[in-house]
Amino acid sequence: MNRRNFLKVATVGSALGLVTVSRPALASVSTLPMPVARPKFKDDDLADYLRKVRQFDEDHEGDVYFDEYNWGLLKSSLERFVRMQRVVGHGNFYLLDFDEALRLANTYPSVGAFTTPELNFLETLFYEQAAIYGFYGEKPLKNLTDRIPLREVVKVPDSGNYLYRGKPMETFEAIRKILGPEVILTSGVRSVIKQFYLFLNKAYESGGNLSRASRSLAPPGYSFHGISDFDVGQAGYGHYNFTERFIATKVYRTLRELGYLTLRYPRDNLLGVRFEPWHIKVGTRV
Ligand SMILES: [Zn+2]
Repeated sequence: MNRRNFLKVATVGSALGLVTVSRPALASVSTLPMPVARPKFKDDDLADYLRKVRQFDEDHEGDVYFDEYNWGLLKSSLERFVRMQRVVGHGNFYLLDFDEALRLANTYPSVGAFTTPELNFLETLFYEQAAIYGFYGEKPLKNLTDRIPLREVVKVPDSGNYLYRGKPMETFEAIRKILGPEVILTSGVRSVIKQFYLFLNKAYESGGNLSRASRSLAPPGYSFHGISDFDVGQAGYGHYNFTERFIATKVYRTLRELGYLTLRYPRDNLLGVRFEPWHIKVGTRV
């Protein structure tokens, strides 16, 4: 797909009312190869793509935005998720599935039921091809109502996070054995709802720019935190654990030397995602 075609795809007006500021809609969604196309670039286009991903938290030409109607639904859905998190607690919210979220919203007046336009918005965003706005990763959770099997996860002490039993937990335990309390689990298992909350929050902070949000955070369904992966950090390093400064830490250097750092999103990957040296790719649970 060359850049011109890629931009055509990126400017498609979709059911979500995605718009770009500078270009008209030129093609239909059906021109997107299924299920997900990795971009194939000419040299100039590749340079352009890599520049965008390196400057991930900026607006770029060709970025895809929510239109005004959907911007309103983003805000009201996000506020509802914030209220819901307050009711169920931070830890439980990591595991909350879509059906539970609907029940909770209906039950607790302090959360309030989702409106039909909000539900349509969430459903459309979930099933929309993320490649339309520049995210090319796989989609491990394919259904909006996919659940985290509670018997397959375990709460990790002192972290407030969960990990899948089997390979993810074994990997973290091995890491912990080497580095002790210096290494912390900064994010483990995340349900579809948790990923919705994080992604909508990022899209809100990005002024409705979906492309910009998806350069930092996988859209709902596309996160491997849903099935196996997790993030690690250096104790006491705070938000720097989620910046490139993480590569200066002892935790990063040690894990790299020992071969534990199989990254899901290496530098200059072609998935449309920024370099995430803290994100450990596990891949499978067993
Ligand atoms: Zn991660």
